[in-house]
Amino acid sequence: MNETSNALLGPAEIRDLAGRLGVRPTKTLGQNFLHDGGTVRKIVRIAALRPGERVVEVGPGLGSLTLGLVEAGASVVAIEIDPLLAGQITGTVQDRFPGADFEVVLSDAMDVTTLPGAPPTALVANLPYNVAVPVLLTMLQRFDSLERVLVMVQAEVADRIAAVPGSKIYGIPSVKAAWYSSARRVGTIGRNVFWPAPNVDSALVYLERREPPSTTAPRERVFAVVDTAFAQRRKTLRAALAGLFGSGAAAETALRAAGVDPSARGETLVVEQFARIAEQLGQPGEGVA
Ligand code: SAM
Repeated sequence: MNETSNALLGPAEIRDLAGRLGVRPTKTLGQNFLHDGGTVRKIVRIAALRPGERVVEVGPGLGSLTLGLVEAGASVVAIEIDPLLAGQITGTVQDRFPGADFEVVLSDAMDVTTLPGAPPTALVANLPYNVAVPVLLTMLQRFDSLERVLVMVQAEVADRIAAVPGSKIYGIPSVKAAWYSSARRVGTIGRNVFWPAPNVDSALVYLERREPPSTTAPRERVFAVVDTAFAQRRKTLRAALAGLFGSGAAAETALRAAGVDPSARGETLVVEQFARIAEQLGQPGEGVA
């Protein structure tokens, strides 16, 4: 499609669409709509989609980013929780790009286990901020066809997702994202490109799928160790994991068997080390707290 077309939504179009639909953006659903075509095109450029690539977008809203994806020639399936917005988006897309390859699923993204059409290879979205991390991780878990992800999230959350061991912000989102992918922050987005303007800064995170760590421990068990280790992040792993292994002594034995210093803290460990610890919890099916 025409890269320089004027079909994207600016401030006037966003107000007009919202007014006609009677949309009042809610914080609960993280509804901050992009009204700047330059920002939309920047996101689409970074996503570097292949022609005709199947893309899933979570939360298309009034269609700002959706139109940019369609303009770039992507085949888009969008998941929107708000019935008012989901009901209008197809019209918005087809008005501007007749015949566009687009469909919408009305649902909470957390409840979607299958998607219509070809399996998506990319997730591109301006995520609702209050559920950004669970939505991101759930999509990576459920749709292993996803090779890469470009999402806009709260800047602090972007930093946490992309953090490396040893930093103060390294935590549960960093380790879990690293299970599926390598993540990096690729851009900052100002507040004024949204309506309404949020009271936090936003940033883009790019995640490239990679093989999960090679381990006999199931993912759920590794994630249980991660959750427990960071629930009390100031504690040593020996203390933090005592409950999971039954006692401090048992945790110490397990940590040593996993090659991890029992006096270390979770914030210094890479995901592969959490997997080694989870392996000490027994074979799959043996039950973990
Ligand atoms: N993509 C649009 C844009 O960039 O202008 C809207 C982004 S807005 C930050 C987030 C969107 O996600 C809203 O349309 C909201 O209704 C939707 N949403 C919120 N929670 C959701 C969920 N759990 N599942 C699917 N969509 C959700």
